[in-house]
This record gives sequence, structure tokens and C-alpha cells, in this order.
Amino acid sequence: MEALTESGKLSFKLRCGHVNGQILPILGEILEMYEDKALICKDCGAEFIFTIGEQEFFAEKGFVNEPQRCKECRDLRKRNGAKREMYVAACASCGAEAKVPFKPSEGRPVYCSECFAKREEEN
Ligand SMILES: [Zn+2]
Ligand SMILES: [Zn+2]
Repeated sequence: MEALTESGKLSFKLRCGHVNGQILPILGEILEMYEDKALICKDCGAEFIFTIGEQEFFAEKGFVNEPQRCKECRDLRKRNGAKREMYVAACASCGAEAKVPFKPSEGRPVYCSECFAKREEEN
């Protein structure tokens, strides 16, 4: 049960009671009051709103920390994390298929993980 107030949204615990033969919800204790909260994004420094809905979501999930980033930065991180493209190139040393997280450019040799490890050892 929720009610909107001027400053935010209140969450109520409801009990049911019999009133005039009808079962009606009776307002119980006030659990917590949520208000929109302005937070500063850790990545871009922009102010963003930790909305009532998000606070409720966080509370539901049992998260204790407030979000560190604005929605744009969170989306950006999500996108980058999920879609980390790997490029396939021929290893400059053995010719085997080498996967690298960057676009191989000409003149810049790419090595497969084995050759890369070997080179690391040698250096
Ligand atoms: Zn941001
Ligand atoms: Zn190789």
C-alpha cells in the first residue's frame, strides 16, 4: 500500500480488519518514507535522481548501497560489458587465429594468446 504525499511516497503495512461486516484494509505502521534523492554520478559527475521507484526496487532486492552512477553511465557500462566485441586476426608469429579486444590495425602485429605469453616470457 502506498500513498503519495507532498514530499514523497509513503509505504504502509496493511492489516485487514472487519468494519461493518466488510473486510477492509486498516492502515498499519508506516514502514518507510521514500523521497526522490539527488545523487552525484561517480563517472560523469552529473547529478541524477535516485527515484522513489528505484529506492523501492533497491530495498526490495536488499541492496544497501545507493547507485553510484547516473542512468546514462550505467547503460553505457552495461552496453560495453555485454557487447565487448572481439576481433579475429592472424597471429603474426604462428599464423593461428588470434582474438583481440581491439580492432587490429595495420603495422601492429597481433599475437595469439600462446605466442603472446611466449613473448612476455622472453622480454
Ligand atoms: Zn554519469
Ligand atoms: Zn601464435
